[in-house]
Amino acid sequence: MALSEPARLSYLHAMGIQPWLDRARFSAPPRQAAEPAPPALARPPTQPPPRSPAAAAPRPAPAAPQPVAEAPRIPVRGDIARLDWPGLRARVADCRACGLHATRRQSVFGAGDPAADLMIIGEAPGAEEDSQGEPFVGRAGVLLNAMLLAIGLKREQVFIANILKCRPPGNRDPAADEALHCEPFLQRQIELINPRVILAAGRVAAQNLLHTQETLGRLRGKPQRLGARQTPLVITYHPAYLLRSPEQKARAWEDLQQVARLLRG
Ligand code: SF4
Repeated sequence: MALSEPARLSYLHAMGIQPWLDRARFSAPPRQAAEPAPPALARPPTQPPPRSPAAAAPRPAPAAPQPVAEAPRIPVRGDIARLDWPGLRARVADCRACGLHATRRQSVFGAGDPAADLMIIGEAPGAEEDSQGEPFVGRAGVLLNAMLLAIGLKREQVFIANILKCRPPGNRDPAADEALHCEPFLQRQIELINPRVILAAGRVAAQNLLHTQETLGRLRGKPQRLGARQTPLVITYHPAYLLRSPEQKARAWEDLQQVARLLRG
């Protein structure tokens, strides 16, 4: 998306970022004419709607290979591994695999482009998300939108999901068994979307994706890759945390610039 300099500066201002931190202008990068993707990256027959012709070209290998932590390989379990996008959405809507089904208003499948280059993964629905059925709404959602616009992306151009599809009462952290039961849904979403970059927003998302108890401070800023496709994973702060700790916005901006670099390939 072409973003004028005044508009970009206004979004940076909304994030609380001083524009002198980076004057580079980011825009959603065009896909490169690519070498053939390795077989492991081939889309399954049950993929979501195809991208535009240019975007549908085989993807180049992710740029800037760096030493990474051992990549978790999380198999998608059971028949969920064979669901297509509508089937997966329906399964999540009806899911009663963990106790959260009893207290939710509705499950929150995720929102955005099911063929997005960038996938954002947060923690779990809160009260507003549970009510509206969409992730990252309210003030945190507004800040996330501003963060995305700062790197030239509209909310509709990415896909946003959570570790858990249903709201934990009181917005507590997900319990281990809840995350375990819900994991196949997220893994199938990642498989079907096949994003070029994943952005984990917050400690809970990062810890569950990487199956670690490391602190966010130790995890962010380090190159990571996820799953069999070795998708680049960037870890940053949750927008709700940034609202409480605006002094961390400069670091979040560093993470977003890393996302932009990876998307440029
Ligand atoms: Fe099912 Fe996940 Fe909701 Fe638990 S949180 S009921 S596993 S969709």
